[in-house]
Amino acid sequence: MNSPSFHLLTGRINPKDHLQQYKDTSHFLEAKTLENFLKLQVAAKTEINAQLEIISSYRDFSRQESIWNRKVSGELKILDDNERVINPKNYSQKELITKIARFSAIPGASRHHWGTDIDIYDASQIKKEEVKLIHSECVDNGPCAKLHEWLDQKINNDESFGFYRPYAKDLNGVAVERWHLSYAETAQNYFSNYTLELFIENLKQSNTLLKQPLIKNAQSYFNKFVTNISFP
Ligand SMILES: [Zn+2]
Repeated sequence: MNSPSFHLLTGRINPKDHLQQYKDTSHFLEAKTLENFLKLQVAAKTEINAQLEIISSYRDFSRQESIWNRKVSGELKILDDNERVINPKNYSQKELITKIARFSAIPGASRHHWGTDIDIYDASQIKKEEVKLIHSECVDNGPCAKLHEWLDQKINNDESFGFYRPYAKDLNGVAVERWHLSYAETAQNYFSNYTLELFIENLKQSNTLLKQPLIKNAQSYFNKFVTNISFP
């Protein structure tokens, strides 16, 4: 496999140049990811009559930076582990980075930059506009719980067409995200090329808020939020 470039790994390439469009939607995916997503979608329909759909796919650097910066500045809500809103003014810079990075990737370090990772929901149970991507939607009586229980089995049995959950467990970095699936084969290639040096260079080239403390403690944030994941 070719080594992916700095620009590809950090979401700085026009998706139309290297990704495939999913039907007539605004979603762009890496070719093999799309091919296998379509198979998983058919299986979900056939086996449990669920409508597996994508809420988020490729996301470019500037969009991720905008999310991050608006959270730092207090324009966008920051939630804690109990799905309660917190006030950024009550925290030190280091605390704030940790609070935000638990649910929103540091710009340039989102797996959504790769086109291999998607956030999904069951469109037969909940409208797209109502999806919040919170844990309670995906367990117990949540609208996407049935889909996720089925996915648990498919992933366990190695019948998930190459998809797995990088945020399946709470490893004290990114929170559990049952809705986030990754196409392992391509993503693992990108992951193994995503180095600390690249993470730092990416921050240096950015206008990311809290850039200085992020660079100063880059090794620690890289370990906690980039490489600290579940593997296929
Ligand atoms: Zn995601």
